Amino acid sequence: MENSKEMRKWLDDMALPHPLVIAGPCSAETEEQVLKIAHELKDSDVNYYRAGIWKPRTRPGNFEGVGAIGLKWLQKVKEETGLKTATEVANRNHVDLALEHDIDMLWIGARSTVSPFIVQEIADALEGTDKVVLIKNPVNPDLSLWLGAVERLYSANIKKLGVIHRGFSSYEKTKYRNIPEWQLAIELQTRFPDLPLINDPSHITGKRDMVFDVSQTALDLNFDGLMIETHFDPDNAWSDAAQQVTPDTLKQMFIDLKMRKETDLEAEYNSKLSNLRAQIDVIDNQLVETLGKRMKISDEIGKLKKQKNVAVLQTNRWNAILGNMILEGEERGLSEEFVLRMFKAIHQESINHQEKIINA
Ligand code: PEP
Ligand code: MN
Repeated sequence: MENSKEMRKWLDDMALPHPLVIAGPCSAETEEQVLKIAHELKDSDVNYYRAGIWKPRTRPGNFEGVGAIGLKWLQKVKEETGLKTATEVANRNHVDLALEHDIDMLWIGARSTVSPFIVQEIADALEGTDKVVLIKNPVNPDLSLWLGAVERLYSANIKKLGVIHRGFSSYEKTKYRNIPEWQLAIELQTRFPDLPLINDPSHITGKRDMVFDVSQTALDLNFDGLMIETHFDPDNAWSDAAQQVTPDTLKQMFIDLKMRKETDLEAEYNSKLSNLRAQIDVIDNQLVETLGKRMKISDEIGKLKKQKNVAVLQTNRWNAILGNMILEGEERGLSEEFVLRMFKAIHQESINHQEKIINA
């Protein structure tokens, strides 16, 4: 697959004055719920109304979606509000039913993108469709798997495409439900600048009070749109209660978010600059996080040394680390002087940590 403007024509043709907005509940629950939210979103920046009809749940026994009946409710949404509709499909049967009910946008969920068999089945069922198809990143941080899914759809002659970045699962507990690993989305954007890239801050954060900040980062990184779960009574939603925002909150968000539209040279300069700065911010956060992890390990070493009554400073080990890092640094264009200064500072912090432990 080559980068192609064709993939984003559907988006460009909308000529939106703001990023694409997909909003609506995690799940369709009842006809009343689906219609009430849609009416509350009608006069807003929302372009597509989302609702999950078939819900992939990690553990059985949770609400698994209302099924095909929900497609009729989405049709009613379109009739009553004019909003275009979007839902998740995970097999051939879902695709057939969604197309029958004239759903405008179909997305492949993170749990499906991991399976080339499922993606191929969906691609075959959708062959040649003129509906918009979006592919969520796989649950694991694997760019090839994500691109592989896009390629399968592109090869099935589906040209209205896009991807949704919804973060990646990790064993480690973090403040995110799914860690963003922004660098993956940035790499995809660099390789396929014309493939529409949409951020899903709801599934990245898992918490409604973090949705705004992640949305702003996505816009700073020049994402083309946002998919945000929205419910009039989030706390009582049948799925993903903690991460949904009310329609009013969503509207306020779009007043407060700083949008960056490239209109003239000055704006283009500002937009490029803020994009690069956002990339730096992502990396700086990772640096501090990584250094924190390193210190935790250093603390463990301190505890071991205390048990065995071993000296904190072991010169041989330290010289070996430095030698290796100077070589690694050289390959990446870092001067020996910088690597030395940086590692001396890191080493000093390690020693401070270990001494604290040994003297405790
Ligand atoms: C969803 O959008 O409701 C959903 C199930 O998302 P994901 O596939 O990203 O988990
Ligand atoms: Mn959800």
